[in-house]
Amino acid sequence: MAALAAIACSRPQAEQGIASHVIVIGLDGWGSWCMEKGECPFIREKMKEGSWTLDKRAVLPSISGANWAAMMNGTPVESSGITNNDPYPTFEPLYLTEHRAQPTFFHLMKRQRPGEECGVVCEWGDFLNYADTLCLDYWKRIDRPAENPDAIVEESVKYITEKKPVLCFIHIDALDHMGHAYGQGSDAYYAELPRVDERVRRIVDGVKAAGIYDDSIIMITSDHGHEGHSHGGHSDLEIRTPFVIWGKGVKKDFELTDTFIQYDMAATVAQILGLEVPQSWRGKPIGVFE
Ligand SMILES: [Zn+2]
Repeated sequence: MAALAAIACSRPQAEQGIASHVIVIGLDGWGSWCMEKGECPFIREKMKEGSWTLDKRAVLPSISGANWAAMMNGTPVESSGITNNDPYPTFEPLYLTEHRAQPTFFHLMKRQRPGEECGVVCEWGDFLNYADTLCLDYWKRIDRPAENPDAIVEESVKYITEKKPVLCFIHIDALDHMGHAYGQGSDAYYAELPRVDERVRRIVDGVKAAGIYDDSIIMITSDHGHEGHSHGGHSDLEIRTPFVIWGKGVKKDFELTDTFIQYDMAATVAQILGLEVPQSWRGKPIGVFE
């Protein structure tokens, strides 16, 4: 047994990646347009502590399902067939796993690092359609988040504290609600931004309290922006999304100028966690590591 334990603990350095934990915090409908004057002190502090861009591009159409899917499955829409918010692809995908799904980074975790904790906490239940729940150890959908905005914080912190996940994706829906209800550039949207920023800060405080912060990389990003009260088109307001990353091994106070498309997120997570990526992926890791 001792020999087996030694083998299990001696993964080659190249496979160990950059950090032991990745926490992705997705803010639905957080368009780059709002960063010119929007109030989000915590996120701005983390931009200085890490790397960032306001020019991550959404995949088209700039719809939630297509974009959260691409972030997790590393694959362009033309290959995945995931073009909207439906639970099934719009047309025949070029590649499917044994789960009849795209190989998300959660799938890579379960195949390459079995037994290591992965989970999702989300305010939009359909998010789970694109994660491949068969590869998750835990998932939680927040019930009626608009009436209970603290639940996403409480549930995320509880999960991170108890399980110390290797990979955790947290989805917060509030900004998208404001964009649809009141419109891009509305007072209501700008008023919601600092409240979301505070929720993000409390989740990150939870990562610190769990004792894994120093060996973690945290990302904050979005699926799309808005034009008027909607999204789905190719205007700058809809397709320019922010991305902020900080933590172990990440360049500090660095504005990323690499071309960055939604599906590059998946490849970046895979690089951090030392995961080999499938041939069907097209995303590339971004250059934010020291
Ligand atoms: Zn969305």
